Amino acid sequence: MAQQSQSPYSIEGEWDELYIGGEWTESASGETIAVEDPSTRETITHVPRGSPADVDDAYEAAADAQDEWAATPPARREELVQELLETLEERSEEIMGLLTNEAGGSAVMGGTSVHLAEDQLAEAATLPRRMKGEHAHSNIPGKENIVEREPKGVVTVISPWNFPLNLSMRAVAPAVAAGNTVVLKPSTNTPVVGGLLFGRLFDEVGFPDGVLNVVTGRGSEIGDEIASHPESDVVAFTGSTPVGRQVAASAGENLAVAAMELGGNNAHIVTSEADIETAVDAATFGSFVHQGQVCISINRHLVHEDIYDEYVERLTERAESLPVGSAHNPDTIVGPIIDESQREEMLEYVDETLEAGATLETGGDTVDIDGVEDSLVVAPTVLSDVTNDMSAACFEHFGPIAPVIPFSDVDEAIEMANSTEYGLSGSVHAGDVGTGKEIAGRMETGMVHVNDQPINDEAHVPFSGTGASGVGGYNSEDFLDEVTEKKWISLQHEPREYPF
Ligand code: NAP
Repeated sequence: MAQQSQSPYSIEGEWDELYIGGEWTESASGETIAVEDPSTRETITHVPRGSPADVDDAYEAAADAQDEWAATPPARREELVQELLETLEERSEEIMGLLTNEAGGSAVMGGTSVHLAEDQLAEAATLPRRMKGEHAHSNIPGKENIVEREPKGVVTVISPWNFPLNLSMRAVAPAVAAGNTVVLKPSTNTPVVGGLLFGRLFDEVGFPDGVLNVVTGRGSEIGDEIASHPESDVVAFTGSTPVGRQVAASAGENLAVAAMELGGNNAHIVTSEADIETAVDAATFGSFVHQGQVCISINRHLVHEDIYDEYVERLTERAESLPVGSAHNPDTIVGPIIDESQREEMLEYVDETLEAGATLETGGDTVDIDGVEDSLVVAPTVLSDVTNDMSAACFEHFGPIAPVIPFSDVDEAIEMANSTEYGLSGSVHAGDVGTGKEIAGRMETGMVHVNDQPINDEAHVPFSGTGASGVGGYNSEDFLDEVTEKKWISLQHEPREYPF
């Protein structure tokens, strides 16, 4: 790929080629897709419109490279992953710029994404040496049992647009560290920072050809081909539940492992014993960071009736104080929604909730931005008098929207929190930590945070959802299990007695 711009990592770099088998190459069709900056609504770059032929090439390259990569000594794999971490650190400013350009990420979102990606790389770098087998005694005289751990083979990574850098990295880095090769398909909204950037980083570090392959293109055109490709041994998907169900079915047909991280409807429970200031502080971050476009953000606030009015008043004040606007402004906290369809869907949930009897405390509409036609910025929105069955509460709204629901006792709050098909994350403020932990234990979710808000991710701690929020686990040992195979080899050291 010719690199004529000041920095090959900036959005002005050239991003119109796929990265397959260590080569930058045009898509088979020669066509490209325009990428829009959600703050300015301007086209900022073009990426290849990958086709099924490109997908086949990517899997062929990944399959060809896999044996040699798996046989590469652990210390060498560790070294390359560490170099990837160093390169990411060196390029962090430019990468944050890409997050602003493509994802509408504020400085907070960009800094968080880079930090999470670094954490994932640091954890992944330890995996090659931690990938150990087992030895088990046998019930059969003279037999020795050895369990070896091997990479699965080719891992497919499909990532979403909301936190594209770290949500691609959390699968790519451990998969590669464990000796797998990867085909990465990023979201069409964020094809550079969730995909082609990885090609550039792997290229600069000098990974062997074919260890990472990146195919951009629309999920509606190449998604099925990718999810069901016969060379794919694991499909690591992060995205919405409806698409996830389809992807898991395709992976299942192919008998590939499906590691699925999907949608959420996370509750923030605040009891009458809670410290309101701490609970509202946490709630402001947990509802409005990255415009609420986080799978583990607060979708519903469940607040005890004794403190309800004060909570709503304080949350409204905080929502109105947040700087809103273009993500290019370093002071902005609430930037643009990723695209029109997401914006329309969330505003429809707000309208339906108001029609059903809720009260609009603040927000509820788009915010005009100078020089931008049809702004994608939605004002931080607080809705009171909400019930659990209203649209903004029962659907994953994925926006800067805070529906606040009153409850009269803790059992009612837990019942409401659990009455969703999802089970991703949650949070509790209940005064003392012990009571908080007791409530957390009764919430049917994969993750719950006491005296905090639901958005937490640490690469060495399990991250997974229950119910419609996913199957399989991410981070550390859990994801290592998804991308490795255990193989039992037994050694019969003395003649065995058979029944006949
Ligand atoms: P999405 O629409 O499900 O898309 C996710 C990825 O799947 C994109 O790369 C998309 O490509 C691709 N895709 C679309 N159709 C496909 C198909 N038929 N086969 C294979 N791939 C296909 O999700 P999103 O809107 O990008 O992300 C938001 C959702 O992700 C929310 O529901 C959020 O809760 C969830 N999420 C979950 C987690 C978690 O850890 N649980 C984390 C972040 C986000 P195109 O862009 O080309 O369509």
